[in-house]
Amino acid sequence: MQATPTPSGAISANASGTTSAQSSSADFSSLPLSPAMLSNLQQLGYQTMTPIQAASLPAALAGNDLIAQAKTGSGKTAAFALTLLARLNPRWFAVQGLVLCPTRELADQVTVEIRRLARAEENIKVVTLCGGVALRGQRASLEHGAHIVVGTPGRIMDHLARGYLTLEGLNTLVLDEADRMLDMGFFDDIATVVKQAPQARQTLLFSATYPEGIDKLARQFMRTPQKITVAAPVAESTIAQRFYQVERSNRLQTVVQLLLHFRPVSTIAFCNTKQQCKDLLTLLQAQGLQALALYGELEQRERDQVLAQFANRSCSVLVATDVASRGLDITQLEAVINVDITPDPEVHVHRIGRTGRAGEAGLALSLASMNEMGAVGKIEQYQNAPSVWYPLTDLTPSSQAALLPPMATLQILGGRKEKIRAGDVLGALTGDEGGPAFTREQIGKIQVTEFCTFVGVTRNVAQMACDKLNVARVKGKSVKVRLL
Ligand code: ADP
Ligand code: MG
Repeated sequence: MQATPTPSGAISANASGTTSAQSSSADFSSLPLSPAMLSNLQQLGYQTMTPIQAASLPAALAGNDLIAQAKTGSGKTAAFALTLLARLNPRWFAVQGLVLCPTRELADQVTVEIRRLARAEENIKVVTLCGGVALRGQRASLEHGAHIVVGTPGRIMDHLARGYLTLEGLNTLVLDEADRMLDMGFFDDIATVVKQAPQARQTLLFSATYPEGIDKLARQFMRTPQKITVAAPVAESTIAQRFYQVERSNRLQTVVQLLLHFRPVSTIAFCNTKQQCKDLLTLLQAQGLQALALYGELEQRERDQVLAQFANRSCSVLVATDVASRGLDITQLEAVINVDITPDPEVHVHRIGRTGRAGEAGLALSLASMNEMGAVGKIEQYQNAPSVWYPLTDLTPSSQAALLPPMATLQILGGRKEKIRAGDVLGALTGDEGGPAFTREQIGKIQVTEFCTFVGVTRNVAQMACDKLNVARVKGKSVKVRLL
């Protein structure tokens, strides 16, 4: 990883990580972090900094305002979380760090990451404040003392207006997924919140893209920010892009053919509209595929459930709009299908950048009809590479077996409110109570949400695991469990 100042004063990092001259600078130990934090990072498996971390952390830890841009999944959360934690005084019970996020999922993900990183320090309280949940409980959490607040602008405004939250002690403000917050029309809400923060503070802005509104935010709320960009040229990645020409009449059926031909374990199918999502979902389910959809207007609980099932690999296809899927942290994704071509080439690159991470090959399949060729042309220009077309006749089923996900999901009706922790569930499944013990390999992701817990288990033992958990006790209490 190399960070070089450019004539404009911006710092750009070479994402391919080929230079060795400064290779030691990718070590977390080159940063002014406590030994406890360094060993925690080791334990978390964070061996070296990602390019955006290496490019932003030295400046951020030195107290500078930053505008940091890098694609989804590049480790931006830890870049600001480590900065927040380094400046925090745990003995002082005041909100010292505030992270504004566009959606509740993102706020939850950020909270989880901050808590993981904060394990090294004594008792640091992180409170999430988002809509869709009663204010009263959140107020109580604040009264118990919070060091860091993570939330959506609207809900934070509510707490500020009611006097439940004050920002007098704030020293670090983070705008995460700033592009997305602008998309969602949060500019004025952000302004309202920021006006209540002290002038003397550090402001960090993170974004996957750099739309015009970012400069406006920077002008109003930041002090001579440094710009840090990590470019990830598509050509250097391991994503195989294939284009297929379709007609309106066979577009959705072609998605099925692609799935049966390539048989990816996890696929996101991007549609331009909610209606297209619904139509595709109906078709996929009718053909026996395990598919779920994510679009606006789903209730929070439904969204949580869909995301949990997709992330733990018990759903083969997630049908989604761009807005709904922004910022999701799905680490293993074999394929992305562009069911519709997006008119915005930046969005296209963003969509396909979700597959082929961490050196694994990814498949990006795009369906285009004649009237989308203009949009395809824009993508070619943007990527500076021609699109490569494949005939639909190539698409033959590569196996007679049904395409089923490797895992299934159990839902325990009880979560953080009941003080259930992932370890308790693991203990119950690997213990002797209620039937034969399961091995660690048969158990996947365990995700505890506020009111329920999702447990991924190998598909062929799912019913047994469900029966066992219904008999065995979790944390000394019996629980209700169902197989989703
Ligand atoms: P972004 O906000 O840029 O979309 P995230 O912060 O959500 O990305 O990080 C993506 C994933 O990478 C997370 O699962 C996170 O735990 C992991 N990660 C972050 N930093 C490192 C690191 N230095 N080494 C290994 N994994 C990391
Ligand atoms: Mg992020």
